[in-house]
This record gives sequence, C-alpha cells and structure tokens, in this order.
Amino acid sequence: MRIHSLAALSLLCSLAFTPAGCAPTTNTPPAAPAVASAPAPTATVDQPPPPSDGPDGNIDRAQIPDKYKWKLDPILSGDEAFSAALDDVAEGRKKLATYRGKLSKPADLYACLALYFDTRLKTNKLTIYTNLRFDSHQKDTRLQAMNERALKAMNDLMATASFIRQEILGLDDRSVARAYKTEKQLEKYKPYIDNLRRRRSHVLAPDGEKVLTLAEDNLWAEIDLNEIPSDHEKTFGALLSDIPLPKINDEQGKEVQLSFASYGKYRGSSERRVRRDTVESLFETLKQFQHGLAGTLSGQVRYNVFLARSRGYDTALDAYLDKDDIDPAVYKNLISTINANLAPLHRYMRLRKQVMGVDELHIYDLYTPMVDSVKMEFTYEQAQDVLPKALAPLGDDYLRVLREGLDTNNGWCDVYPHKDKDSGAFSASVYGVHPYVKMNYFNEVDDLSTLAHEYGHALHSHLSMKHQPYVTAGYAPFNAEIASTLNEKLLSDYLIANAKSDAEKLYLLNELVETIRTTIYRQTLFSEFELAIHTAAEKGTPLTADFFNETYEKLVRTYYGDDFTVGKNDGIEWAYIPHFYYKYYVFTYATGLSSGIALSERVKTGGPEARAAYLGMLQGGSSKPPLALLRDAGVDLTKPDAIESAAKLLDDTLAQMEVLLAKRAKK
Ligand SMILES: [Zn+2]
Repeated sequence: MRIHSLAALSLLCSLAFTPAGCAPTTNTPPAAPAVASAPAPTATVDQPPPPSDGPDGNIDRAQIPDKYKWKLDPILSGDEAFSAALDDVAEGRKKLATYRGKLSKPADLYACLALYFDTRLKTNKLTIYTNLRFDSHQKDTRLQAMNERALKAMNDLMATASFIRQEILGLDDRSVARAYKTEKQLEKYKPYIDNLRRRRSHVLAPDGEKVLTLAEDNLWAEIDLNEIPSDHEKTFGALLSDIPLPKINDEQGKEVQLSFASYGKYRGSSERRVRRDTVESLFETLKQFQHGLAGTLSGQVRYNVFLARSRGYDTALDAYLDKDDIDPAVYKNLISTINANLAPLHRYMRLRKQVMGVDELHIYDLYTPMVDSVKMEFTYEQAQDVLPKALAPLGDDYLRVLREGLDTNNGWCDVYPHKDKDSGAFSASVYGVHPYVKMNYFNEVDDLSTLAHEYGHALHSHLSMKHQPYVTAGYAPFNAEIASTLNEKLLSDYLIANAKSDAEKLYLLNELVETIRTTIYRQTLFSEFELAIHTAAEKGTPLTADFFNETYEKLVRTYYGDDFTVGKNDGIEWAYIPHFYYKYYVFTYATGLSSGIALSERVKTGGPEARAAYLGMLQGGSSKPPLALLRDAGVDLTKPDAIESAAKLLDDTLAQMEVLLAKRAKK
C-alpha cells in the first residue's frame, strides 16, 4: 500500500489489522513494489441472484448483481469518453508549458498553479477510472492499455510541471511575500508553495541539481518513494526470483516446491515439522546467497546516505523524514519507547510457549494460531448493520456518511470476488466525486475487519475532500493508516464485547495480540535495523553479510526475550525483506497503528471534544504538517504516550487471554 503525498493517485490499500488485506507487515516478499496503481470497473448489466452459498471467486462478473459493483460514471461517462479526455489533459500540459520562465510574476504564478492542479485532477480521474476498470477485468488488455496511457499522462504531467518547483524554489522570500500581497488568490496555494520552500536550503546550484537528477535523486519526488524502485532494489528483486527455493514436505507428506507466495502459508502450518522445515530451509538457502543479498542492500543504504549528504543533511534519516516534514524525534521515540516496553512481548512469548506446549519456542512457532480458530461469518448485509454499531463512537455525522457509502444503491463499493478480479482491497478517492472501495468480500470476520479498514480510508478522504480545496485534500502517507486502523480497533472492541462464547473471545483477543506484535513490535524491530545499518554506513562501517546477520540477530534476541530460542540462521531474515529498500518508510506502520489505538481510546472515552478533535484531523487533509494535524487530534508522537498505550493494550489483552485459558484448562 503506499500512498503519495500528492493525491495524484489517491489509492490506499489495506494494511489490515487482521491478516487479511494487503499486509503492511513484512511477511510478503519482494515482487515489484506496488506502483500506485489505480484500478476500476464499470457497470456491466447483469442479472442473477446474490451469492447464496457465500461468495465464489470463480464466477463471472456478470453473475454478480450490479448493486454490488461500483458505479464509475461519476468519474467518466464511459470508456468511449476516454480518448477525448486524454486529449484534453494533453492540451492542459501544452498550455502549462507556456508558463515556463514566467513564475516570478504573481498573476502568472497563480494562473499556472490553477492550471496545474486542474490538469492534475483531470488526469487523476483518468488514472483512477482506468485502474478501477482494469482491476475487475484483469485479462482485458484493452483496459490495461488504457490504464497505462492514463499513468503515462500522469508521468508526463509530472515531467512538464517540474519547472514549477524549480521556479518557486528560485524565488527569494521577499518576492514570495510580495506575490501573496499582490495576487490574493495565491493564498489558496500557500500550503503547497510553503511546503516546497520549506526545504529550500537543501537545493543545490543548477550544476549540482543536474547531477543529482542524473543520479535519480528521489528526495524531491512528488509521489511516494516506494513507487520508484532504485536499481539496487530491482537487483534485489531479480536476485530473489533467481534463487532456487527448496522443496519441503507438506502436512500430507507430499513434496512441494516452496515459493515466496506459499511461504506464509507453510510457515503458519499447524504441523510443527512443516513450519520448521519451511523456515529453516528458506533461511539455509538465503545463507548461501548472503553476500549477493548483502551487496544489494549495502548499495541501497550507501545510495541513501549519498543523496542525503549531497543535499547537506547529516544523516539519511534526517533527509528522508524531512521529505515528509516529520521530526526525526518521532522515529527515535518509537524505538526507545518500544525498547522500554518489551515486557508485554516477552509475556506473550512465555504464554505462547506454554499454550503450545513446546520446550523451545522458535521463530517458526510464531505464525501458527495459538488458539483454535472460530468460524464467524458476516454477510455484506450484516456488515452494513454491524459496522455502524461498532463505529458509533465516531458520532452521527460520521455514521450517516458511512451508511451512505456502504449502501449498495450508491456504487461506492465493489464487494465480491469473481474471475479476473485482482486480489486484495483498497480505497481510491476522486476529488469532487466520492471515495471508492474495492473488496474481495468472502463473509469472513477478516473481511469485515478489512471493510472497516477501507472505510476508514474512504471516510478520511470524504471528510478531507469535503473540507479542503483540491490542493490540500490529499493527506500525507504518515497520516494515512490512522483512520483505517482506528476503525479496525473499534470493530475489534465491539466484536470482543459481543463475543458469543469464550472460544470466540479468545480467538478475537489473539488476533488483536498478533496485530500488535506484527504491526508495532516487528515493524519497530525492522525500523531499528534500518537505522542501525544506515548509521553504520554513515560511520564508514563496511556493510557485510556478517554485519547484517549479527545486527539483526541481536535485535531478534532482545525483542523476543528469554522464552524465545534464537535459531542458528535466524539472523538472515533481513535478506528477503523488501521494506529495507523503502527508505525509512516501515516505521509508519508502527506509528500509524499506535496512533489509531491511542485515538480510538480517546474517541471512546473523551466525549464530543475528543471526537471533534479526531474528526478535525480527518477534515484537515494536508492543510497542516502531518505531525501538527495529529497533535491537534490529541497524539504527540515525539512523546512516548501513544506507543506506551499500545504496549499496555498488548499487556491487558494477554491478561484477558490468560484468564480465559486458565478457565478452559480447569474444565
Ligand atoms: Zn490501509
């Protein structure tokens, strides 16, 4: 999932609290880093009945009633209107180019920005429309081609508009102040202009800029960095796909080829032999390629440091956080607070070891369910009833829009899986229209959770679009996963409070515990590793495989504690994790969920004021820096509180599990 500060593609994928959706967690290996794509289908005319035996991913789209599909005509009247719309945005780019060299004149600056954002919105509509169309017709090459043409139009716009950034950065403070005075309408673009100029001191003389552009500098990219893989990252992906993975014997004793796609499944096997062989054989294999894998990671890290230093930053951390206007204190606070709060994680390991009845708890014992799974089903119609109840603390205004968005008459959501529909879930928003939500709804409790998550994104977008002009309606990646995880937390609370049996409650509590472990603790471990290897590079320490292995193993040992047994190759886990190529991005998973947890508590217990403060953050879009918006909502991530409350939640949830488990043992 990744978003872009730009709102250019406004696509938010599911981070998922529960293991559904597109994992935020680093369990899924490489594959090209999801380019912010933007899918979408149109209304086909269909008849048959709604899925009666539950959703079926193998039926044709035509078999699903139209009301369960999104309606795209508010974005574009149909595929036949695409060519003319594409010509129109090309015309916009042509006109835009005529402003080159003129932006020192306030009237031209205003007219140029107005045209730029107008063209960007129109282009954005085309990327979203074609993306959504293609998403549910994955084998339709015509739609794929349309989507590629729309994305190319967006790229062309970014290239055409690059002079705007250069010229705005070239103005001195006095000229900018004068421009605001003489051209009153410029006020509208002030947040954009000010945000650009914020890093003015890190712009080099034209020759230096030219060299950095040739070196593919990403520190000024107007889209999310993760959408721009470096050559190191590409080599890493290629290397991983070239490495012959081992074979293992599955639960039935049948020999199967391990792949990165099946790794998660076998690692979570309830049969210990299978999950042990899976993890140990993968680690053994990675070990044989460790020097090549260390080479690519070292290259990436050293490149990040090079770009940061070229622009006059002390560290890569400073440079990459400054890009999104985040105080590096947030990063350091996350790591130090988690390190001071490892006791709940250690408690979890102790409980897991005891419940699973193993002598030694290994890395391959962490992903198998610790308690029995309980089948809980919610049809989409039931979800329409349950979600508003679970999200009631967000207030009537929020619920009204939520109901409107869930209503199958309104075309926001593409609900069910079918043949040729892409997997996963996301939310995509079009300014001036409404948010869209893509689901693959199978009636499972995880699907309900994913729905809560995606509607968190959708309502965040709805509120920011309603209260902000287009230029500030998008929101920073850093804030993107707060509304979604807050909704998941409220749903989790509701389901636990309404559990029909101890078994159901235990299952839900364990899901919550796993979410905190994988999204907060594990991602912070990754963040600490990322900081350690960059710091080493900055000090000139050679980044060898041994160095990576030792650094990683030490963190695993510290994080998981004395009831966890570190295996001889556990230190190699870094080698297949793509997130270390994402340039200080992974920590936002941990800060996002911690903020979501802290704010859900405030919203539940803080009365109308706390609720209004939270909704104010959603309405704020990107009108203020990300940390300021969050602080207004009641969370200061430069301080330990929010992270501590997540750790406390883990501890409390474990305590509840222990009581239920003791009760079960007595029976
Ligand atoms: Zn998400």
